[in-house]
Amino acid sequence: MNEKQYPIPYETTNELVSVENIHVQDEQEQIAIHGVDLNYEGKSGPVQALQNITFNIFRGEFVCVLGPSGCGKSTLLKIIAGFIPPTAGSIRLDGEEIKGTDWHRGVVFQNPPLYDWFSVRENVAFGPKMRGLPKKEYTQLADEYLDKVGLSEFADKKIYELSGGMKQRVSIARALVNNPEILLMDEPFGALDALTRETVQDLTRKIWWESGKTIFFITHDVEEALLLGSRVIVLSKHPGRVIADIPLSFSRQIAEGADTDIKFTPEFYTYREKLLRLINRQGEET
Ligand code: ADP
Ligand code: MG
Repeated sequence: MNEKQYPIPYETTNELVSVENIHVQDEQEQIAIHGVDLNYEGKSGPVQALQNITFNIFRGEFVCVLGPSGCGKSTLLKIIAGFIPPTAGSIRLDGEEIKGTDWHRGVVFQNPPLYDWFSVRENVAFGPKMRGLPKKEYTQLADEYLDKVGLSEFADKKIYELSGGMKQRVSIARALVNNPEILLMDEPFGALDALTRETVQDLTRKIWWESGKTIFFITHDVEEALLLGSRVIVLSKHPGRVIADIPLSFSRQIAEGADTDIKFTPEFYTYREKLLRLINRQGEET
């Protein structure tokens, strides 16, 4: 895997940038977001959710997006997923304008929209079944991905019998089974207790590291971003603008065997303080 230098255009981050940290596989960007604005039609006129968003995502990156509530994080994810088109600017996947949703981008939400009365296996098999694969193939695929997320023995359970953490694993398997090029995750672990969250964070990191897939991950938890991302992008408060773009290596170090105690190191502390300052400064400006 080639390491690539990524240009960091934001002065605020310079003291933290160490370019050898970046984990990308291609010279060519996979996603190019250029000058994106998004205005919603609110009851009392238009609401600007995103303002002039410009950045590229390279194949194999684990991009975490941090920002205060209401700053437009979910809106940005929905644009990348193809649920909504930008009001201005462009968004391209491998050079092609994104128009609508497709299997190349798998989405995982905080409250996974699973079919409660279907079994775990049926939920995971749903996508491949809809794409017309024969039963033998989609069952095999579902079982393969349930194994990856550690749920093999729960394949025949119904969704309503599962804990929150297990439901999120099903949701991850259901997105991965379609072999998407990019996994889009919107605060997927926000509703889980601390211990469960750590387990699914570890699982997500492992999937990223082993599959080489690109992950675009929204969170409002600074520590989560630092423990998972190969890069963190910080958005300003409403309307969302990019205010920092920082490469990270903690996740890679953990994937390569470092202990999660890494979060007690002075380096981790420095990054956490920096990100908290960036986010809190947003609050003070109101
Ligand atoms: P975040 O995910 O960062 O909390 P969102 O992307 O959900 O933020 O929302 C960004 C802004 O856009 C907020 O001010 C929100 O109220 C507004 N907004 C989101 N969806 C809609 C919508 N469908 N119609 C009007 N305004 C919306
Ligand atoms: Mg949101």
